[in-house]
Amino acid sequence: MAIKLELVNLRKEYGALVAVNDMSLKVEEGETMALLGPSGCGKSTTLNMIVGLETPTSGDILIDGQSVSKIPVGRRNVGLVFQDYAVFTHMTVRGNMEYGLKVRKVGQREINQQVEKMASFVGLADKLHRKPAELSASEMQRVAIGRTLVTSPQILLLDEPLSNLESEMRHQMRRELHRIQLETKQTIIYVTHDQIEALSLAHRIAVMNLGVLQQYDTSYNVYHYPRSTFVGSFLGNPPMNFIKGTLKSAGGQRLIEQDGARIPLPSMKELAGVSDGAAVTVGIRAETADIVPLGSPGSFEAELFAIEPQGPEAVVTAKFANTLLKVVVPTSAVPKGSGSIALLPHANLLALFDTQSGVRLMNGAAS
Ligand code: ADP
Repeated sequence: MAIKLELVNLRKEYGALVAVNDMSLKVEEGETMALLGPSGCGKSTTLNMIVGLETPTSGDILIDGQSVSKIPVGRRNVGLVFQDYAVFTHMTVRGNMEYGLKVRKVGQREINQQVEKMASFVGLADKLHRKPAELSASEMQRVAIGRTLVTSPQILLLDEPLSNLESEMRHQMRRELHRIQLETKQTIIYVTHDQIEALSLAHRIAVMNLGVLQQYDTSYNVYHYPRSTFVGSFLGNPPMNFIKGTLKSAGGQRLIEQDGARIPLPSMKELAGVSDGAAVTVGIRAETADIVPLGSPGSFEAELFAIEPQGPEAVVTAKFANTLLKVVVPTSAVPKGSGSIALLPHANLLALFDTQSGVRLMNGAAS
């Protein structure tokens, strides 16, 4: 697949503040890439540099292999949709949808054809004569997306496009975006602070924090193989469990000890070269541990603390030494009574992090 967008050491400073710190990544044609991170992490600044609203301090942006750094905002063929719709309120839906094509001096017949096709694509064929004030929030967002898509941008940039919508509308719009992805094969950059949105819409996720790209990988890998405790905790609900302890060995078995309580570790190549005594954090996603009979090989014990049934699944909270853990298990597997339970983590999904740096241990070293 061709590379549609490439950021090369992209950097933006505002005085002493580094809003985006030497960010490099590639987005393939037809992919949706989500820029995900907490408020203030540099998502909008990155987006604004791609659009041309902000000038990078250093680094470069390539679209279809060509640097666009010197191309002014209006001349870049990228389409931006903001969370607050960016539609012209004094124009009808048709007026809004025609606008970008008129600016490009497309002939009126062609404009009519394209606008009508796009209006029916975004489900607004019967609303072309309406003014935005007469539309619902999701219809307004569809106008904003339609008027941008109709100009066939090289990249469609969506900045928190669902955050102004009510929950039900947000789900509906998410499905709508899925359809747009599938049918247009448009390359999309999607800015969000909502991990569920990123996981459900993006092929790849760039997780940012404090201007620094923390991890850039497929949505699957970012979720299942977080490279740092930050990424592990930012994605997932309930969030990943973290158990801090000291690495030890007993009878040829490596384990993590916290206040005398122990978690046996499966044999992991990540442990090669990491000495006993190291401060290590175990990461276990809530749905990657099973409740097993006490004494089962590879399991560890914790005290049952709370059970929250949620229909087919239940969130079970248990206390291991000083740490409260949450696991999600089928309701049928919920333990009866109280006292000790045994938890068996899925060996291939258990993560180990260097406690001090929060970086995942990889092949015997933090990387
Ligand atoms: P996000 O979109 O992830 O919420 P932003 O890209 O808006 O984050 O902001 C990143 C950092 O840059 C923040 O600390 C923000 O305060 C700062 N920032 C953004 N725009 C400006 C600006 N025009 N002048 C000074 N600081 C800015």
